[in-house]
Amino acid sequence: MSENRNEEFRVTVLPGDGIGPEVVETGVRVLEEVAQRFSVALCLDYDDIGWAAVKRYGVPLADETLDRVRKSDAVLLGAVGGAEAESKDFALRPEAGLLALRKGMDLYANLRPVRILAPLLDASPLKPEIVKDTDLLVVRELVGGIYFGEPRGRERTEQGEERALNTMVYTVSQIERVARMAFSLAMERRKRVVSVDKANVLDVSLLWREVVTRIHPEFPEVELGHLYVDNCAMQLIRAPEQFDVIVTGNLFGDILSDEAAVLAGSIGMLPSASLGTQGSLYEPVHGSAPDIAGQDKANPLATILSVAMMFRYAFGLKEAGALIEQAVLAALEQGFRTSDLRAEGARFVGTKAMGDCVLDQIGRIRPDGP
Ligand code: NAD
Repeated sequence: MSENRNEEFRVTVLPGDGIGPEVVETGVRVLEEVAQRFSVALCLDYDDIGWAAVKRYGVPLADETLDRVRKSDAVLLGAVGGAEAESKDFALRPEAGLLALRKGMDLYANLRPVRILAPLLDASPLKPEIVKDTDLLVVRELVGGIYFGEPRGRERTEQGEERALNTMVYTVSQIERVARMAFSLAMERRKRVVSVDKANVLDVSLLWREVVTRIHPEFPEVELGHLYVDNCAMQLIRAPEQFDVIVTGNLFGDILSDEAAVLAGSIGMLPSASLGTQGSLYEPVHGSAPDIAGQDKANPLATILSVAMMFRYAFGLKEAGALIEQAVLAALEQGFRTSDLRAEGARFVGTKAMGDCVLDQIGRIRPDGP
């Protein structure tokens, strides 16, 4: 492990709503500990997003917050959303802050790794023999497609009937950049990419498939396959071990990555990274979980594993990321579980104590191995 770096990284921390502040507090403790271990200087800058930002600034993402994150090397986010915000206009909803952040930072590739950790095999709703070798990465295009396409909205037909529409649209350059991202990530893994579309029905998918196929020769060592989205949904629960990297558009990626997430047992285990042209963002996949907020019950491991992704992708410190992942695995092997991870004979702990367990394991792993 390289332990002598003298760089300073600026990280904007956006705890958000619900369990966001609890899991982020734990994530920051791990971030600071591992940064110190690798001699990385950190400058942490806290700000608000979501309902917390509505209360402070009157909007779910203030302009000054967007300026701040654009000047950061990385952003750590908890979660947004809550019942108190639900009656508000869409523009004032916490989720609108998240969409504005993705667009404002041009976070075009959302990475969701799904790996089954051996101690959690029984937590998956699928049979252990089906999920045991799952180790895949969904790369979802995040700032294009039907979620952002125009025209959109509701209108009346000439006959006076109400209708609503959204537009699925991708340009060649939008597809090229996410395809290159997926191929380069595959180079660091098992060198296999499956591109998912609906090219038997949709024009936009035909273009998607053409462009991905055209970019492929830039990465001759990577094997490329194509799947229709309906077949991919089936293959993910039939034989998930066949996948290495899945690359797909915004809508299909949203649905498939949630489906893939279930394989790991609890949403509280799943980290994510969103990479773009204006920085990168790291956040757990789960939401603000208002049902358990403020009770020290939330599983912080998804946030801690998102911090591992930050070390890898934002700071270029793979060894630091691996150290955190190893410590999480060790804490689970010791039998520690938060209440979302049901297991016989488990040692149940709360959010803070689970953070302590991981920090304890980090302290036990020596620089040149456990
Ligand atoms: P959720 O992920 O917040 O919760 C779903 C279920 O999983 C709940 O039972 C919750 O208690 C549990 N859960 C979630 N995270 C957990 C954790 N770390 N540890 C233990 N249990 C955990 O999804 P939801 O209930 O559909 O949404 C709640 C709010 O979060 C909504 O306002 C929604 O819009 C928002 N949301 C935000 C994001 C985000 O910030 N990226 C993502 C999804 C949902």
